[in-house]
Amino acid sequence: MPEMPEVQGLVDFLRERVTGLTITRVSVANIAALKTYDPPVDALKGAEVTAAARHGKFLDLSTNVSGATPSDAGAPGPHLMFHLGKAGWLRWYDTMPATIIRPGKTPIALRIALSDGSGFDITEAGTKKSLAVYVARAPADVPGIARLGPDPLDPAFTRDTLAGLLAGRRTQIKGVLRDQSVIAGVGNAYSDEILHAAKMSPYALAATLTEADVDALFAAMTTTLTEAVTEATGKPPAELKDAKRRGMRVHGRRGELCPVCGDTVRSVFFADNSLEYCPTCQTGGKILADRRLSRLLK
Ligand SMILES: [Zn+2]
Repeated sequence: MPEMPEVQGLVDFLRERVTGLTITRVSVANIAALKTYDPPVDALKGAEVTAAARHGKFLDLSTNVSGATPSDAGAPGPHLMFHLGKAGWLRWYDTMPATIIRPGKTPIALRIALSDGSGFDITEAGTKKSLAVYVARAPADVPGIARLGPDPLDPAFTRDTLAGLLAGRRTQIKGVLRDQSVIAGVGNAYSDEILHAAKMSPYALAATLTEADVDALFAAMTTTLTEAVTEATGKPPAELKDAKRRGMRVHGRRGELCPVCGDTVRSVFFADNSLEYCPTCQTGGKILADRRLSRLLK
């Protein structure tokens, strides 16, 4: 699943390529991915893209609609926003292919053609459909954006912001980091990386962290995300997934050696995902129980 750094990479790429261009064609190939109906998706046709932004893991293209008379030129148009979910992605074309997309027979959910002949598809692979596309008047009209917590790379997000978010939460830190309504943009992969860098157990309870733990977690979060965003920025969409995989120290690296201490990276499996950690770095050498197994034994 793409998280903040990959989404930021896509936003930076789109900002450079599509700002100032007009949307000439919008084709919806998977109507189930489109979560809004007012304004209609066709309202994007003829709109000029004015900006690209990120909200958590959501991408947001703002538009202007130019009217027939100079007086109403440049009125704010609808926003095209999307959340790539588990298996969504963006495919860019310098020159849009002429092929016709056939609904139901393609991973393409939405195709956008632009005035200079370029364009992009929003695609979804796999069977767990979680790609979501929105056409709305404002980002806050999308419930998932309206309830986002603060962005950890926002300059206003300080060590004390983090301390305030953790205080009183008797839940595991792994879950807190992934909760979009607490901290925006971090998912399963980067929460593994942040906790490894902070040398902290994924099961540590947020409310019980010491002042020194909060210092370490804030430093780990800022460094991990800043490095990943720097790595993602300037890369074309086709290279972002590999860049993410290469940057991971423990996530997705079960059985490999921890680059910090040389211990073997371990997994804990859940119903539909897993987390990775290094026992020596994070749990004092303790092997965490497999959650699927412990549930069966209860
Ligand atoms: Zn280690």
